[in-house]
Amino acid sequence: MKIAIIGGGLAGLTAAAYLTENPHVEGTLFERSPQLGGRAFTYEKNGFTLNYGAHTIYGIDRHTLSSMEHELRLTFSSKQVDKRKVVYSKHNHLTTAPIDAINLLRTDLLSTMQKVRFVGEITAIIANIHNLKNYNTLGEYLEASNADDDVKELWEHLVCSNFFIAPEDARHVSGAVISEYYHNLFLSSKPVNYVLGSWSVITNQLKEKITSSEHWEIAMQESVEELQFEDQKFILQTKNRRQAFDKVIFAMPVQHVIKFLKGTAWEPFLAPYESNTATEVMIYDVGLSRIVARPFTYISDMDNKIFISDVSATDHTLVPEGGQLLQGIAYLKDHYDSEEQRKAYLDDKNTQMEALFDQHYPGWREVTAVKRVSKKAMVSSVKNVTTNTLLPTRIDHVPFYFCGDGCEGKGELAERAFSSARSVALSIVNEIQEALQTV
Ligand SMILES: Cc1cc2nc3c(=O)[nH]c(=O)nc-3n(C[C@H](O)[C@H](O)[C@H](O)COP(=O)(O)OP(=O)(O)OC[C@H]3O[C@@H](n4cnc5c(N)ncnc54)[C@H](O)[C@@H]3O)c2cc1C
Repeated sequence: MKIAIIGGGLAGLTAAAYLTENPHVEGTLFERSPQLGGRAFTYEKNGFTLNYGAHTIYGIDRHTLSSMEHELRLTFSSKQVDKRKVVYSKHNHLTTAPIDAINLLRTDLLSTMQKVRFVGEITAIIANIHNLKNYNTLGEYLEASNADDDVKELWEHLVCSNFFIAPEDARHVSGAVISEYYHNLFLSSKPVNYVLGSWSVITNQLKEKITSSEHWEIAMQESVEELQFEDQKFILQTKNRRQAFDKVIFAMPVQHVIKFLKGTAWEPFLAPYESNTATEVMIYDVGLSRIVARPFTYISDMDNKIFISDVSATDHTLVPEGGQLLQGIAYLKDHYDSEEQRKAYLDDKNTQMEALFDQHYPGWREVTAVKRVSKKAMVSSVKNVTTNTLLPTRIDHVPFYFCGDGCEGKGELAERAFSSARSVALSIVNEIQEALQTV
């Protein structure tokens, strides 16, 4: 059986790596750009390792990566972010973020009574008895609860930092999704980790697995431009070739899939996913030639909805000797009335970000060795709010398979890319198995 995978990001590489394990499958992975990794692409500059997307792993011991580690025999190590140095700032007042019971007891953002309530709510979610999962959204749950505004604000803030979305969007995340997410996270013994050495440690091993298989090929800089169905085969067209396959896996953002299938017989079945919105952020990475300050590992400015991670405080492998790597992220709005308004909003975020750097990392401007600012980075191709619908990995009347971070799967962000790809690959392997048994 010949399989085509379109997209060489985390999802496409994962699906291909699993399929190389099956002797009945051969295939080609098409990637349109000159490098693999997609939004998890990693590159070196002046001795710093920069990620296009960040590599925080939430609950790594319960994460799909842990299954992949065993099933695909990957080797990597990870390091826990120092939770005691995760800080929230509100009205210029700094306090530890209430991400676990110890920090919660220390946080100044809540009164003693509020802390008791917050602990109670979290404990109840862990026990899976809390009724948050019965509410359509976090907003409806908070509306119905008689919690103080500060407790409500903290709930929003916790959700926005784990889902990478603006606090106002946090209210639109489904109660069931949040309940399941925190159930998993609070049971984890490693809640916030980095894969040491960044995403390339994973993507290089997946690539190695695929290229060392005699039955697989990686076609770089080959954008798949067209797809036709002829004689029971899918014919893929790139600038270099026209090739027939038995199955096709789309491993790209949902928006790209919809654009790709426009005008084909399958377009109408994708209509329910057309109006999905993505999560976009502004990224401000700076590599410093020396450590200017290390007051915390993460600071979230609750007033301006921006945060800075001292990435190298946890992962020192990403910097040259004595260097420091800081990553600022600003949550962005979805809608702007005009292009001028969008530009002004982004300029404001840039100013607020630099002010946050000035406040906590004085002298950073003078020792900046590397800088990367992206004003529109897609963190998740489908924001996981109730007004959006994640793309299923299979759709009735559509013969293709879909995976990626905008597809149905376990977890959020990269985990959904891994988990949806793993489940697509395993379902194809099952189909092959069943077909063999009936022969
Ligand atoms: C700023 C930022 C911070 C992030 N932080 C985190 C984090 O801390 N933790 C976490 O878990 N996740 C994080 N993420 C999310 C994570 O990076 C993504 O979820 C993940 O990389 C998505 O992988 P994917 O394979 O689904 O899609 P993509 O990476 O978008 O891969 C799709 C690939 O398909 C290729 N392609 C598209 N069309 C075609 C075509 N026609 N022919 C051939 N190839 C094609 C593209 O070039 C691309 O390489 C972050 C992302 C960003 C941007």
